[in-house]
Amino acid sequence: MKEKIVIITCLKCKNEQEVSISQKTESLAANHDKILKIKCPKCSNIKFAISYKKVVPLDFELLKEWSLHQNLFLMPQDEELFLADEPYLDIILQTLDTVKILDIKKNVLFEALCIIVYDNTIESNLKKSKQLRDRVINELNKRKQKLTESSISDYIKEIVYPQLT
Ligand SMILES: [Zn+2]
Repeated sequence: MKEKIVIITCLKCKNEQEVSISQKTESLAANHDKILKIKCPKCSNIKFAISYKKVVPLDFELLKEWSLHQNLFLMPQDEELFLADEPYLDIILQTLDTVKILDIKKNVLFEALCIIVYDNTIESNLKKSKQLRDRVINELNKRKQKLTESSISDYIKEIVYPQLT
């Protein structure tokens, strides 16, 4: 079995640990929230930010790991705002389509997709891209069943949902 080494940073005291995460996690039944059985050695906190050892961009492998564990975070807060960016679009879609992700993470990913549409719709964004908006609307339409199972903030729904077919 292939082992992957990632860094988990304690969200409380910022202590860093290297952990090896086995790939068999994905074969376990999803939808009951999984917790890494790891505590921070300094403060016993169980919430961590996940990243790689070197500065490398977020990729599918890391997003997959994040999507399977309730206590892994890409950042302490506003993960959906961080993910609402064109470079992450493909790995977000890949994760939604191929990984049995936790519901709580599915919410974050769909919220991120909706935020991309929102950002590229509102008048106040002078750099908005109609092409990007249309692409994400198309991807949301293809996954409408899963989208309706997710909880999206009302102010985003208001702008995004009328644009879906
Ligand atoms: Zn700690």
